[in-house]
Amino acid sequence: MSNTSQQLTLALSKGRIFEETLPLLEAAGITVSENPESSRKLILPTNDPNVRVIIVRASDVPTYVQYGAADFGVAGKDVLYEHGGEGLYQPIDLNIAKCRMSVAVRSGFDYETAVRHGARLRVVTKYVQTAREHFASKGVHVDLIKLYGSMELGPLVGLADAIVDLVSTGSTLRANDLVEVEQIMDISSRLVVNQAALKLKRERLQPILEAFEKASKRNS
Ligand code: ATP
Ligand code: MG
Repeated sequence: MSNTSQQLTLALSKGRIFEETLPLLEAAGITVSENPESSRKLILPTNDPNVRVIIVRASDVPTYVQYGAADFGVAGKDVLYEHGGEGLYQPIDLNIAKCRMSVAVRSGFDYETAVRHGARLRVVTKYVQTAREHFASKGVHVDLIKLYGSMELGPLVGLADAIVDLVSTGSTLRANDLVEVEQIMDISSRLVVNQAALKLKRERLQPILEAFEKASKRNS
C-alpha cells in the first residue's frame, strides 16, 4: 500500500486552494517543499517526512479522500455538494476560496418575468445537482445542460438562457455582458477527512486538524 499507516496524505488542487491552504499548513508546522505551479510532480514532499501532498483536480479531491488514497483534503462546498460527501467527515470550514454560487443571464434577458410566466429555461452549468435542486425548490422548469468550463459563453451563443456558476468579483460576468440575478449559496472550502483515517490515524491527524481550525478562524 502506498498510503501506509506511517504516512498522512493531503489532497489539494492547484491554484487558489493550494495557495490559501499553505498558511494553514504553516500553522501546523508543515512546509510544502515544491510549488505545483512550477513543478510537474503530483506528489509533493513536505518538511515532515510523514506528511505528503498530492495535487489533483478540484472536483477529484472528495474521491481521493472517500477511497482513502488521501487521508484528508481541501474541497470547495460547490464540489462537495456535487459529490454528495459519501465517506467523508467534514469537521472544519476553512473560510478560504470564498465565493458564491449564482444564476446569471445575458444583460437584456428579463429573468424575473420569464420565471413569473413559467417559462422553461435552458441552463448551462458544471453544477448540475446544485442547479437542479435550486430550480426545483423555486418551482422553475429547467433543461440543464452540463458543461465543463467557460459557462459564460452559453447565453452569448444561444446555447442557454442562464448559467449557474461561481462568482466572486463578478468581473468575468461583466466582461461577457452577463448579470447575476440570483444567489444560490455562499461557498468556501472545507477540510474533508477519510472516516477510517480519522479513527486509525487520529493521533497524527488531530494536531493538524486543531492547528487548521485555529488558523482558519482568522479567515472568518
Ligand atoms: P479546473 O480549473 O481544474 O477545471 P476548477 O475550475 O474547479 O477546476 P478552480 O477554478 O481552481 O478549479 O476552483 C477550485 C475551487 O475554488 C472551486 O471548487 C471553488 O470552491 C473555489 N473557487 C472557484 N472559483 C472561485 C472564485 N472566483 N473565487 C473564490 N473561490 C473560487
Ligand atoms: Mg477553474
